Amino acid sequence: MTVNAEPATSAAGISQTWRDLPAAQQPDWPDPAALRDVLAELQTYPPLVFAGECDQLRDQLGAVARGEAFLLQGGDCAEAFDAVSAEHIRNKLKTLLQMSAVLTYAASVPVVKVGRIAGQYSKPRSKPTETRDGVTLPVYRGDSVNGFEFTPESRTPDPERLKRMYHASAATLNLVRAFTTGGYADLRQVHAWNQDFVRSSPSGQRYEALAREIDRAMSFMHACGVDPEEFKTVEFFSSHEALVLDYESSLTRTDSRTGKLYDVSGHMVWIGERTRQLDHAHIEFAAQVSNPIGVKLGPSTTPEEALALIDRLDPERIPGRLTFISRMGADKVRDRLPALVEKVTASGARVAWVSDPMHGNTFEAASGHKTRRFDDVLDEVKGFFEVHKALGTHPGGIHVELTGDDVTECVGGGDEIFVDDLHQRYETACDPRLNRSQSLDLAFLVAEMYRD
Ligand code: PEP
Ligand code: MN
Repeated sequence: MTVNAEPATSAAGISQTWRDLPAAQQPDWPDPAALRDVLAELQTYPPLVFAGECDQLRDQLGAVARGEAFLLQGGDCAEAFDAVSAEHIRNKLKTLLQMSAVLTYAASVPVVKVGRIAGQYSKPRSKPTETRDGVTLPVYRGDSVNGFEFTPESRTPDPERLKRMYHASAATLNLVRAFTTGGYADLRQVHAWNQDFVRSSPSGQRYEALAREIDRAMSFMHACGVDPEEFKTVEFFSSHEALVLDYESSLTRTDSRTGKLYDVSGHMVWIGERTRQLDHAHIEFAAQVSNPIGVKLGPSTTPEEALALIDRLDPERIPGRLTFISRMGADKVRDRLPALVEKVTASGARVAWVSDPMHGNTFEAASGHKTRRFDDVLDEVKGFFEVHKALGTHPGGIHVELTGDDVTECVGGGDEIFVDDLHQRYETACDPRLNRSQSLDLAFLVAEMYRD
């Protein structure tokens, strides 16, 4: 993120056209007056990101759509207010920087780095309520809406949480900006990112060998008199699901340079599998803002729907404006994805194609934990690459749920986690995430697929 001297976004310009349409997955706020007060306050807050930064990301995603770069998008399923700490944020960033170093070096491709971070606080759910021991309460919808704790007080939606979401996002983004531009992301730190990790894990050791090669390459360049600025800082962008439309629209602002609306709550926002109905509010909202937009595509997506989404969201056909994030499941990706890619490509539209190998591969373990198998995750990415190879199109990136902490939420990986280990450090508030070692394993394997 390059910080411009002047914010290019002014305070006016709240997007409201979505309000006339049905909106799925919205909280049932108990007190409309309290919600109105919160939204009025949010509308006065400064932007978290600048419109010009969103445009920079769109241009980089344009390179992904053209086949010239690879998107690494990752972070928590659901961020939590009590995890806004220097340690958690640094660990996540470190993991993403390590994955990016692996992909850039081993696959020789520029990597566009986007966190599911600084705004990923709202969750779509399959059921509106949850029942435990005969007690039924509203389901947890993310820290932006209600609390995880299973009590009536905690599960009642509270609009004050939307303000906390803004402040938690601001604090997170501030630290991310400091880390990525203040020396921590300097490529000469490739070893330092791995220090607390190397002895304990096979992927850490594999990474250490790669970091030594990067070091040698950099020493060579230095000896030749080359010391580019690009090695010293990293461009890193924020993204989240645009789910709670009251929040997102309160954070839209008009860009004073162009008169266009931007959602200044994050650089990129995406529309989830449960809210991508063409004539509903979420797609209308996304159509109104100029940020880069992602749309999740599950196995039931038809080519006609994909084409209609392009017409709605990218009528001017700007490469980088629209990213299709396919989340089919390892057993379906080879069957369902080809028709979509084929028809979209034949239409002449250029979107970035990205694989989310997480959301089609979730199951409940015998222990009751919601989990994913590392091998299924890997197999979906493999299928995604196979489909693109067969069609001559570009496998543009991966979208993954991960954490920098050594949790035990997904089974498998080089430093194998077994079903019986899941209880040890199962900390997610929503879906199971790859831990640091599994994330690095995945990066090495994806780099191999990209090279082949
Ligand atoms: C998610 O990304 O956490 C999510 C809920 O994904 P999807 O909309 O693809 O189910
Ligand atoms: Mn998830």
